Amino acid sequence: MHDSRMIIGKSKKEIDKMRAAGQLVGSVLRELRGMVAPGITTIEIDRAAEKMIRDAGALPTFKGYHGFPFSICASVNEQVVHGFPSIYKLKEGDLFSIDCGVTLEGFVGDTATTVPVGTVREEWQKLIRVTEECLERAIEQCRPGKHLGDIGWAVQELAESHGYAVVRDYVGHGIGRQMHEDPQIPNYGKPGKGPKIKAGYVFAVEPMVNLGGHHTKVLSDGWTVVTLDGQPSAHSEHTIAIMDDGPEVLTRVPVVHQQSVVMSCN
Ligand code: MG
Ligand code: MG
Repeated sequence: MHDSRMIIGKSKKEIDKMRAAGQLVGSVLRELRGMVAPGITTIEIDRAAEKMIRDAGALPTFKGYHGFPFSICASVNEQVVHGFPSIYKLKEGDLFSIDCGVTLEGFVGDTATTVPVGTVREEWQKLIRVTEECLERAIEQCRPGKHLGDIGWAVQELAESHGYAVVRDYVGHGIGRQMHEDPQIPNYGKPGKGPKIKAGYVFAVEPMVNLGGHHTKVLSDGWTVVTLDGQPSAHSEHTIAIMDDGPEVLTRVPVVHQQSVVMSCN
């Protein structure tokens, strides 16, 4: 666990900027979610993301990050995170995880979601629901006086109560002018342990939950993380500011009716 002295607290003005970045990437992810359907390729979704981000005067944070070549991570089924968008056509029954980051006026917002493609088997739908609930419970812990271990425990306790495993090899993170700042925020931990959470911290909390075991490996492209046992994985992420009175989810945007979020791709 990193030392809490390395965590960069943000001023009210900085959080205002992070809110703008968060709302932008939250809206982009909502639009991308609306595009997901059997037959669409994941590279089409990547291109739409990049266009929306640049049109809004922001930068796709992922593109070029340590050499990552795309604006979104597109991870299907047993792919956990960091998948490459490609000419793969999403098909009925897939689980599709989209992770997206933007940099706006020097600050980063980071958010991810797993979307069912068409009708997905009940067992996999439940994996998505529980992963989202893990994130909500983790968000509740993001308040002054709590500890980082409370966040990890909230995720681990719920995931494991359903027989799922939380990914150990990849974690959430502090976020600000850089996408990855201290501290690391594991999806496991012990209540009351780890650095104390203070107002002004901003965290990207991101449960990665596996239907099978927690072990992962990286494919030969050097990026795509898959489950070792080939079972599916779900991912849910928000950027959260710790305010005096509790968490503010900077990347949460209002849900819009399905029909109005399908964008035209011309
Ligand atoms: Mg992310
Ligand atoms: Mg992240």
